[in-house]
Amino acid sequence: MSQPKKPRARILSIGTELTMGRTVDTNSAFLARQLAERGFETTAHETVADDQGAIVQALRRAAEQADVVIVSGGLGPTPDDVTRQALAEAMGAELLLDEASLARIEAFFQRRNRPMPPSNRIQAMVPAGARPLENTRGTAPGVEATLGEARVFVVPGVPYEMEAMFERAVAPRLPAGGGVVLHRVVRLFGAGESDFAEMLGELLRDTESLRVGTTVAAGLVSVRIYSRGETPEQADRLAQERTERIRQRLGEKVLGVGEEASMESAVGELLLRTGRSVATAESCTGGLIGEMLTAVPGASRYYLGGVIAYDNRVKMEQLGVPGGVLQEHGAVSEPTALAMAQAVRERLGAEYGLATTGIAGPDGGTAEKPVGLVYTALAGPKGASAARHLLPGDRAMVRLRSALAALNMLRLELLHA
Ligand code: ATP
Ligand code: MG
Repeated sequence: MSQPKKPRARILSIGTELTMGRTVDTNSAFLARQLAERGFETTAHETVADDQGAIVQALRRAAEQADVVIVSGGLGPTPDDVTRQALAEAMGAELLLDEASLARIEAFFQRRNRPMPPSNRIQAMVPAGARPLENTRGTAPGVEATLGEARVFVVPGVPYEMEAMFERAVAPRLPAGGGVVLHRVVRLFGAGESDFAEMLGELLRDTESLRVGTTVAAGLVSVRIYSRGETPEQADRLAQERTERIRQRLGEKVLGVGEEASMESAVGELLLRTGRSVATAESCTGGLIGEMLTAVPGASRYYLGGVIAYDNRVKMEQLGVPGGVLQEHGAVSEPTALAMAQAVRERLGAEYGLATTGIAGPDGGTAEKPVGLVYTALAGPKGASAARHLLPGDRAMVRLRSALAALNMLRLELLHA
């Protein structure tokens, strides 16, 4: 990605629980997103233990390299929380008591009918020349200070307190950002990340005002576009142009645009648009397709229900899969998948029947039918079809990919309906 333009930001997360891996740092992600929306380029995230010397060094480094430094954590009253002290040391300033902060902390305890422990007094201290930031959700005030040429904002580690303080006290006081940065995500399905990268080629290239990259999550590849403009309209236009070119190139492999876009929302929209309904017969996915479809609001308008036909007896008795098919081809076979899809379509009276049967592992694989072998089938007004997949990954991944593959059969069918 291209060299960022000013203003630059750096994010420091403080806490031994973070460096030891006991708590996952979600504050940095939140802060980076907020900063990006306001036109800042975040050039680094750093996580530092509750160690005053290490925090002092990190603060100085960050202040040299960025215009804005946001620090979260280590503002608590206990001796292991030393961010306040470290900031004072980095600034070469004394810690002074702020009477207004002290009064607010005392009032916080009074409202809870508890005396303020003496250790909380440290939370009312700010380095000389710095300014406290009110905490509306907890006791620890934040700090706004100047370190070298950088503006430094220190906010609490508790995400619920940090988010409120960022919005109320930090965001309004950030130096002017460099225009607007918008973020847009294009969700893809039907190839791996590197294959998509190859197909997209120059469309993944950054420009002065665009940064483009791919990510993978929950079996889907996403293209993320950050566009910078003088105005939101300008940034939006840039992102829109790139999105259109991606759509043109990838066609049906584009599920949709936006954080909410998913396989199940794409299928849901198409079912709504065509006025069709679907029912499911799930073996190896154990209801996952039903869960995904019903996670979308309004699914009752197109999803009728399903049968979790895990055991062969359920495949026969509830769906009417002929025992002969199961005996001859096995439960994990194309004929079984087809019979399941057709049966659930008929029994539930849906336009489409969707089925999965496969070996999710880790056990149960054979040379002939290895773990990851999955058949998906779709039955509809135009007949039935099945697909054979050899899916990589652990049990959870095989199940998820099976559900996605089945839903994608329906999506492609509906696109041509
Ligand atoms: P407090 O006054 O509650 O002590 P604090 O500013 O000292 O606030 P920390 O003690 O550093 O905050 O963190 C409190 C809790 O907040 C941690 O135990 C952790 O659960 C959570 N937390 C801290 N930093 C982060 C982070 N970067 N991402 C997510 N959670 C965090
Ligand atoms: Mg702490």
